[in-house]
Amino acid sequence: MTGRLTIAGLGPGDEALVTPEVRAAVAAATDIIGYAPYVALIAPREGLTLHPSDNRMELQRASEALRLASEGRNVVVVSSGDPGVFAMASAVFEALEQAPQWQQLPIRVLPGVTAMLAAAARVGAPLGHDFCAINLSDNLKSWTTIEKRLRLAADADFVIAMYNPRSANRLEGFGRALALLKEAGCGERLVIFARAVSRPDERIETVKLSEAMPEMADMRTVVIVGNSTTRRVGRWIYTLRYAE
Ligand code: SAH
Repeated sequence: MTGRLTIAGLGPGDEALVTPEVRAAVAAATDIIGYAPYVALIAPREGLTLHPSDNRMELQRASEALRLASEGRNVVVVSSGDPGVFAMASAVFEALEQAPQWQQLPIRVLPGVTAMLAAAARVGAPLGHDFCAINLSDNLKSWTTIEKRLRLAADADFVIAMYNPRSANRLEGFGRALALLKEAGCGERLVIFARAVSRPDERIETVKLSEAMPEMADMRTVVIVGNSTTRRVGRWIYTLRYAE
């Protein structure tokens, strides 16, 4: 049997937001590899081996996936949301760059609904004009780089989606990010805190940036900072489609 590798996004959590092609790939898999909480979303069945792993082992996990595929297995690497957004797809290609013997393997990347899109849809259309996405984790880049990108994004009046705003071992960064945006004159902008979107414990809150507190976010929250035109209409929030 020829092995293959599929890198799939499971969406933000709700089963209804898993695409049919991802569902089919999971149903055909012999091995599922990924961060333990995502692997836990896959129902066990005969003939399927689950390989849950720790969060920070991306490269190791990617090499393991390539090795299993090279041995003839039908491997699916799972991420939450979209696998190309701050997730496993890049790690697999990084591992592939270091392992030319596997470059002929059939590899597919299957998109998923990323957190910022699920969150935006809940509140209306805050991403209706130019936007960017920034990962606030400084595990893989320096805080100086994060600050520079935030400052320039605020200056360019982008809507900014912030992933990984805060975790137990990174409590300060998000507060610094909010302070930087206040100093950059964004105090009047709307900020959406969207936690556990599409899951049973979903919670969504919108405040002005000047009223935003670091404690309003955790590692299950995506934060969307509106641009200067992002506004409320009734219970909805949207961003104007035009700018100067
Ligand atoms: N590949 C994922 C992102 C992984 S990084 C995606 O495309 O969505 C993990 C971060 O994603 C979390 O810290 C949080 O900021 C965001 N996130 C993932 N699922 C979420 C959900 N259901 N609700 C809100 N934010 C979520």
